[in-house]
Amino acid sequence: MQTLSSPPAAAPEAAFDTKITRRRTRPVKVGDVTIGGSAPVVVQSMINEDTLDVEAAVAAIQRLHEQGCEIVRVTVPSMAHARALADIRTRLLQDYQPVPLVADVHHNGMKIALEVAKHVDKVRINPGLYVFEKPTSDRTEYTPEEFAKIGTKIRETLEPLVISLRDQGKAMRIGVNHGSLAERMLFTYGDTPEGMVESALEFIRICESLEFYNLVISLKASRVPVMLAAYRLMVHRMDELGMDYPLHLGVTEAGDGDYGRIKSTAGIATLLAAGIGDTIRVSLTEAPEKEIPVCYSILQALGLRKTMVEYVACPSCGRTLFNLEDVLHKVRSATSHLTGLDIAVMGCIVNGPGEMADADYGYVGKQAGAIALYRGREEIKRVPEAQGVEELINLIKADGRWVDP
Ligand code: SF4
Repeated sequence: MQTLSSPPAAAPEAAFDTKITRRRTRPVKVGDVTIGGSAPVVVQSMINEDTLDVEAAVAAIQRLHEQGCEIVRVTVPSMAHARALADIRTRLLQDYQPVPLVADVHHNGMKIALEVAKHVDKVRINPGLYVFEKPTSDRTEYTPEEFAKIGTKIRETLEPLVISLRDQGKAMRIGVNHGSLAERMLFTYGDTPEGMVESALEFIRICESLEFYNLVISLKASRVPVMLAAYRLMVHRMDELGMDYPLHLGVTEAGDGDYGRIKSTAGIATLLAAGIGDTIRVSLTEAPEKEIPVCYSILQALGLRKTMVEYVACPSCGRTLFNLEDVLHKVRSATSHLTGLDIAVMGCIVNGPGEMADADYGYVGKQAGAIALYRGREEIKRVPEAQGVEELINLIKADGRWVDP
């Protein structure tokens, strides 16, 4: 029994690590972007334009790409949509620049997938829908023979697509969704993370048997605990089987507004913090462009990518010597383009300087009407509050770290 004088048990080495160590995965090329390997976590999203409207689809892809979306997904519900991708790609090359494209193929989409594979860099298939078995109301089980028979049909249907992608050096996402598991998986494994993982493994094995390894795997669910369990189980199974495929993370149907963002972050960031995940999509019921800042904020908060200024600001309290919200807003508007810097805005010198978390620069309340500017932990000068933001800019300029917006 432990007594009060017993030394605490030694913490595992990882407990002291302030950097996220990412799970080792194989690099998979999607156009000129790499998912996995040593590449940074890739941000992606999806346009909601009909790809038959080439003009609108090209504009939407360009908009997303300019926002920082590195891979853009489109959906191709029919053969005509798949063919339209040829024009979309040409238009992007002519009028903009190449953008890595992924096509989403759904129900019984083998022929569509084969067509679209010629025009995009990656094809996403959903194992639950690729060979669609119509659910029958009187069925209560699948015999092993019936299970295997459908497996054979899946193999035959998947083979041409795998060969096409393999021979073109393109990629495939095996994208399992909790909400659309195949009926035979549901009967065999239940509506569970295990069913999701087995569904992905069945497709992976077919790809591997054809020596095709450019695979990215996703196991999305709209409930965060289900999604977390599915990805963790997938990693466990892949480790057991010696597989190193990169993972695409996402929470489906997360909704909109604050809760949609929080829900996505709860799922995606929890896994990323554990080193799991190589590409992310935040799915919001809002314009796709709104998903990109959320993705980057998640990655920046975890220290996985630095795409903006990191602001450290205290919540303010009775000691605060100025309107913190107002000042933070002003500091942000003046400096938000200085990617790479950490800037702190702290209400008082009692706790402010110590809690600035090693920011490069600090703006700290000194006394009524005056603030102090810091470079790292060193106080550089005291200035009247009215000149605070201007003097902060001057200090950054004097250090040669300023660039014009
Ligand atoms: S830094 Fe000062 S003003 Fe800000 S919350 Fe802490 S004690 Fe309050």
